Amino acid sequence: MTDLDSPVQFLKGVGPKRAEMLERLGIGTVRDLLMHFPRRVEDRRDSRAIADAPPGCSAVVSGVVRSVRVFGPRWRRGFRIEVDDGTAAIQAVWFRAAWMREKFKAGVRVVLSGKVGEYKGAASMTHPGFEIIPEGIERDDAGLGGIVPVHPATEGLAPGVIRNLVRAALDAYSGAFTEWLPARTVERRNLMPPSAAVREMHFPSSPETRLEALRRFKFEELFLSQTLLARRKSKAAARRKAAAMPTPPGLDEKIRSRMPFVFTRAQDRAVREIVSDMASDRPMNRLLEGDVGSGKTAVAAYAMLVAVGNGAQAAFMAPTEVLALQHHMTLKSVLDGSGVRMSLLEGGMKAAERSALLHAARTGTVDIVVGTHALIQEDVEFARLGLAVVDEQHKFGVAQRACILGKGSNPDFLVMTATPIPRTLALAVFGDLDVSVIDELPPGRVPPVTAVAAAAAARRSALDFVRARLREGRQAYFVFPAIEKGEAGGRATLVDGLRRLAGTFPGVPMASMHGGLPREEKERVMEGFRRGEIGILAATTVIEVGVDVPNATVMVIEDADRFGLAQLHQLRGRIGRGTAESRCFLFAGDCTPEALGRLRIIEGTADGFRIAEEDLKVRGPGEFAGLRQHGLPDFRVADLAGDFGLLMQAREDASDLVCRDPGLADPDSAGVAARIATVEEASPSASGLA
Ligand code: ADP
Ligand code: MG
Repeated sequence: MTDLDSPVQFLKGVGPKRAEMLERLGIGTVRDLLMHFPRRVEDRRDSRAIADAPPGCSAVVSGVVRSVRVFGPRWRRGFRIEVDDGTAAIQAVWFRAAWMREKFKAGVRVVLSGKVGEYKGAASMTHPGFEIIPEGIERDDAGLGGIVPVHPATEGLAPGVIRNLVRAALDAYSGAFTEWLPARTVERRNLMPPSAAVREMHFPSSPETRLEALRRFKFEELFLSQTLLARRKSKAAARRKAAAMPTPPGLDEKIRSRMPFVFTRAQDRAVREIVSDMASDRPMNRLLEGDVGSGKTAVAAYAMLVAVGNGAQAAFMAPTEVLALQHHMTLKSVLDGSGVRMSLLEGGMKAAERSALLHAARTGTVDIVVGTHALIQEDVEFARLGLAVVDEQHKFGVAQRACILGKGSNPDFLVMTATPIPRTLALAVFGDLDVSVIDELPPGRVPPVTAVAAAAAARRSALDFVRARLREGRQAYFVFPAIEKGEAGGRATLVDGLRRLAGTFPGVPMASMHGGLPREEKERVMEGFRRGEIGILAATTVIEVGVDVPNATVMVIEDADRFGLAQLHQLRGRIGRGTAESRCFLFAGDCTPEALGRLRIIEGTADGFRIAEEDLKVRGPGEFAGLRQHGLPDFRVADLAGDFGLLMQAREDASDLVCRDPGLADPDSAGVAARIATVEEASPSASGLA
């Protein structure tokens, strides 16, 4: 039996009970087990007798637990075990980890690895790596004297047990790991064959060969996702023709004369790229990326006016009502006095109003429709949708984005994001889109000065600063992580905050803003804040995207540590929108060095791309742009923060392949075709996306 997809229960040593435990680790088949790579590999070649492990050296020792002792006050209890191997004894200490003590009972055998220190005159290790050796496992299986994989384990399945199962599976099945990558890629990139690589991943013959094996599996993942993207891109290019919408000089002039400012060079470049896409009869498929405040909206407005100038309609979809409203107001001032007809489609519209709007869209008597998700409801139809713009695209799923495209016949498509996406991630996830980057802010911008306020005194002086600015006629944002108690786990809330602010700033007109407010209320608040009638806007993160009030120059973010770095940067982007100096205070709720360290990154740089890279390192790609949302398989071994070079190679090979053999019909592509089919089966909604 050599079928990798056979149930893991067929393996020797796996009964129903173990099968169930393996299931908990997501392991159902032999392949899953073999792809369950060790979390780390421990070099136990240097294992020695405890008597030969003097303080100061790093060592691996093993022995029997003689005693387990708990110490310290209840809220930070630690424990200590004494391990004896017959030559001497050593202590291992864990602080604040009393929950772990259950793992160790007197009499069990353990392997410890770490730096040897001294504790009250005896040898000791603090927080060593450890493994409990289950009964019935021989010394050899504990890997002493070798390089040992330590697999992610689960209750009842110690690493030693998993290691044995993996070894059994390797012996029976590793030959079934056949090459699926195209021969020319394997050769070009000098990749280790899969059967050897899988063995090296688990039982490396040396650290170097393990790295080679790891490189192979990383390449596999990157290559597969890049091939998917390359295929999407080539399918999109082969789509039926879109309307060609050229921009003659007269139209360009007319549009520009409506803008209240001159485009920056970066905006101009983006406009040029968009104009050339729109003029061609291939549908545009472009991501417009630019830091907060870089002026994407104006570029989008330009593109929509090109569509309108060509007799087509444009739709502008924003993730929140606040933002849709804001875009509508901005566009209204740009279009004032022109013949362009524009409407705002909202969730809470009156039935008659709504049906009049839908009728206008369907019959083509409205040129631009701005709205939220409401735009993709089934009954929304357009007479001749030429351009769909999606703002803050990461707030939408693949299906929603695909849906707006379905409202027209091959409309041009422009998606915008202010989350500066690290280059690796952009290529890994949006490799099917063309990208324009606005990497320059409008002139005269002074980036906000940012300060972390942890101590009470720092907070007080921050509030004094706010007071002084309010007195000068400026406005301020206060941002809270939650609206009410309960969702916040006892942290700062909007409801409490507003009450406190009223006491701190008596006489200052204030209002609150959050997603749950009725539409009229939101509108009223936004308008009041924009006109300067409201001094303080207390809000949740609904103001994270898009809100644009240049006179608001101060922001205080409560419990700032509760937000991701990219999100903080985004929030901070609400100020510093005019030429006046602005200031952002990050009130830290959690004052641990890690939390403060993260906030200091925001304090130290205004470069959204750097912040995004840091965020990627700290939180991983999942938090960023849900790969699943984009219909791509997860990365298990590839590290988007670190594998840029490999990603570029995979990208090159994938696009070569799709170029040479778009149908993946060549015998050399058969392995790739099979993999692609598996992924597309698992995520059908994404495979059809342009
Ligand atoms: P983004 O959506 O990229 O965060 P916006 O489009 O909201 O940025 O623009 C931010 C602010 O900058 C707005 O107030 C806008 O009017 C202004 N702005 C945009 N482009 C320019 C420009 N070229 N010169 C001056 N101000 C600009
Ligand atoms: Mg915007």
